[in-house]
Formats: sequence, C-alpha cells, structure tokens
Amino acid sequence: MTRKDRTEGIYSRREVLDDSERRQYYQLQLKDLLSYAYRYSEDVKKRFDRAQFNVDKFKALSDLKHVPILKKKELIFLQSMGPRLGGLLTKDLGELRRVFLSPGPIFDPEDRMDDYWGWTEGFYAVGFRPGDVAQITLPYHMAPAGLMFEEPLKNLGCAVIPAGPGNTSSQLDIMQKLRVTGYIGTPSYLLHLAQKAEEMGLSLRKDLFLEVAFVTGEKFSEKMRTQLEKKLDCVMRQGYGTADVGCIGYECFHKCGLHLSNRAFVEICHPDTGIPLKDGEVGEIVVTAFNKTYPLIRLATGDLGYIDRAPCQCGRTSPRLGNIVGRVDTTARIKGMFVYPHQVEQVMARFEEIKRWQIEVTNPGGIDEMVLSIEAGAFKREDELLHTFRERIKLRPTLKILAPGTLPPQIRPIEDKRTWD
Ligand SMILES: [Zn+2]
Repeated sequence: MTRKDRTEGIYSRREVLDDSERRQYYQLQLKDLLSYAYRYSEDVKKRFDRAQFNVDKFKALSDLKHVPILKKKELIFLQSMGPRLGGLLTKDLGELRRVFLSPGPIFDPEDRMDDYWGWTEGFYAVGFRPGDVAQITLPYHMAPAGLMFEEPLKNLGCAVIPAGPGNTSSQLDIMQKLRVTGYIGTPSYLLHLAQKAEEMGLSLRKDLFLEVAFVTGEKFSEKMRTQLEKKLDCVMRQGYGTADVGCIGYECFHKCGLHLSNRAFVEICHPDTGIPLKDGEVGEIVVTAFNKTYPLIRLATGDLGYIDRAPCQCGRTSPRLGNIVGRVDTTARIKGMFVYPHQVEQVMARFEEIKRWQIEVTNPGGIDEMVLSIEAGAFKREDELLHTFRERIKLRPTLKILAPGTLPPQIRPIEDKRTWD
C-alpha cells in the first residue's frame, strides 16, 4: 500500500495571508465580533460597560487590550448567573447542537455551523488526508474531545472509529484488523498502546499501520516524539486548544511551534495585569475566538506560552506559539484533565478522617503519574475515596496513607514534579 504525502499542501487560503492582510482580517473579525457580542450577549454588555469600553472606538488591534481579561475560572461562576449560561451566550440553549460539561465544572456549548471547533485546517497541517481510517481515543461523554475531533475528520473525508478511552487490547485489535492509519489522543496513551503491543509480541511497523498521530491534552518531550515516530513509523504532531474555544494552534510537518489558528486572535499577556507582552516574552495565552454564539472575548487560558514570528518552511504565515511552557496557577493539567485544587478539597471534605492531603504529579517515561497522599489516623474508606475522586476529577490517583504529621508543614496542594527534556 503506497503511503500518502502528508507533508505538503495548505487547507485554507487564510493560512498564507501576508502580514498586512492578516492584520486587516483580524481587525475586521474582531470589530464584527465585538459589536455583535455587545449587542446580543448580556454578559459582554455588562463587562464592556463596566470597563467603559466603547465598541465604536475599536479602531486598531491594540485597542483590544482595553477589554478586561476573562479568566477561565470565572466561567464557573458566570455560567451559573442566569439563562443563556449567565448571558455569555447570544442565543438560547435550545438553538445549539450540543452542550458539553468539562471539569470545573464548565459548560461548553457547540453551535450548529460547519467546523464549529475549527480543527479542520489543523488536522490537515498535522497530516491527515482523505481516506484515512482514524481512531479517536478521547472521551465521548460529557467532555467535548471525542466529538470535537470527529468534525475535522469528517470534513477531510476520513473514516472515524469512535473508540473512546481505555480498553487497550480492544484498541490494538481494532488497529490491526481495520488497518487504522490515524491516531487521535494523548501522547501518553499512544506510548501505552505501543508498549502494550510490544508486550503482546506485535511488530509496531508490520502489525500496525499508523501513519499519522494527532496528540493533545498533555505536554510531551521531543525525545518521546522521536521514539514513537521511529517505532511506529508515523508522523506525530500536536494540537492545542480548549473545550471552551476549540482549536487555538497546531503543528505543521516542520514541528517548530504551533501555528495559530485563523479562527481566533491570540495575545500573550501578563498573567496579573492582562497587558499584552512583546513577541518572544513568556506570558498567559489569551484567546478571542471569532465565535458569535459564545463570544469569550479575551479568554485567559491559564496556559503559558510565547509567540514566534520567524518564517516557517511550510509556507504558512500565521505566527506560532513557541511552546506551552506551563500553567499560570496551581491548576495542573494531568493526563489532559484540569485538576483544580478546590475540586480536590471538595472531595476531601467528605472524609473527616483526612487531616491534610497533597497531590504529587510526576512523569516517569513521559507518562503522567499522580499520587494522592492523605494524612489520616486509621483510614478504612479507600475504595469510597478513590471512587468519589474519580467521579469528580475524572482521574484515578495512587493513594498513599500517611500518619498524621508526616507531610511537611508548608505544602502546595498540587506539587508538579514533571520534567520535559
Ligand atoms: Zn509551518
């Protein structure tokens, strides 16, 4: 079977706009979005009025900085403030296609228009091509990931196997029998699949047929990429986005940062002041997706990165996110899920025997591992605790029970000891 060329081509003309065309495009999109959102979103109107931001005075891209930052965590409270998700939506819930729920808890609305989440150009850049058989190993329930990534595959003319997470041996069985060419999931799960396949005595190049992998939700090292690409003989590229706005950036064949999606305006800002920083400076990634249904204007993602405008060999002219270097606050992203300390605290509060707790995250061999240490005299409700934890946080930690007074006096709720070399 001849392999497809996954290195060439551009999906949309917008990916190759020159600098002045791009600025003009952003300017028009933002102007249109701000006016529409001010008119139809109660929350946006309130926020603009409070900040005395006059939409008519929006003349240049740099005027956007006068709109106050919207922190991702604020969504939890704002959404509970009344109908239409607290006035954040510009239409009624019943007019949408789907509403998801991601941890936080935060609702993620999805409208009916084509390519709502905006991943199609990114999936093309990553290397997906018509005729691919693609296996999605991300969740299909509640959280948007699974269905979000079906959309670009449908648009590109690929078949989808909605496998969802887990069931590693079935996943491998499907991959062999259906000669699956594309993988969609976390990098660590791909590593896990490869390890399991080898344990079962399979040849990763002869028994599996993977040619392209889109990975997301976790950081991974170049070492891990090189290792997996070589073992599986496939192209492994990553995308970056959130459940609130969809696609923000994606890698191309040349893997030198994530090209910013053409469906959003991205700023790198000081995490405290919200003031935009210069190219190359590390700050919080602040996104304004051109989404009139759910206009999250200047959404601060909590992720840290920087902008690189050096030309890319692929010909795309969009600026790139140099790297996602970490999280702004203590909120950790473990195995692709946000783990908020206050959510963990809510779980722990149900167990009065637990005096103190701490989560420690490591990534031996590139796979996230989470240890939940609790201080408790005689703790007998291990199963109940793990069950409740999993229900709320969607992850299963390794539990360590310590005698009272074992943890150091000053501790961070989530100690992130992961390394990315
Ligand atoms: Zn490129």
